[in-house]
Amino acid sequence: MAPDVVFYVPGEIEGWLTFGQSCFLAARTDGVWKEDGPPMPEVMIQAYEHWYVWTHSAVVVAGIGLLFLLAGRKRWLFYLAPVAFHIFLDVFTHERFLTPVFHPIWDWTFRGISWSDPRVFWPHLAVLLATLLFFVRWLRRRPPTSQTFGEAGGNERRGVAPPA
Ligand SMILES: [Zn+2]
Repeated sequence: MAPDVVFYVPGEIEGWLTFGQSCFLAARTDGVWKEDGPPMPEVMIQAYEHWYVWTHSAVVVAGIGLLFLLAGRKRWLFYLAPVAFHIFLDVFTHERFLTPVFHPIWDWTFRGISWSDPRVFWPHLAVLLATLLFFVRWLRRRPPTSQTFGEAGGNERRGVAPPA
């Protein structure tokens, strides 16, 4: 989600400043995200060229990762994993706003199948529901937090005597 927020918010603000309020409805035009849909409105093209190509580039993500390493923040790389996964999924699920994963080095893109297509939508929904079920079951099986990190256990580990 992060790459979309980072492109969408400034893209919408710039679109509003350039094209006025009509920009807010542009992305809701019927079929505008499909390959055979109507021409993309100017505001969407602007958001793509100014923001999307940068927020959906694995090269940029790798650069940020390198900055983290140089700053000695190796653990922060963890936060880039879902961003990289988002970009990877977008490569295969966009018919428009093709994801230039190697931008600005190489403008290779792949025309995928839109996530709203039944061939992607239903398997996607099944994976989401399976993940939700897995987490609900995992939360139920977890011991209550008081047994793990509660007062008594925590104090024992810290060498503090339990209250008399
Ligand atoms: Zn995206």
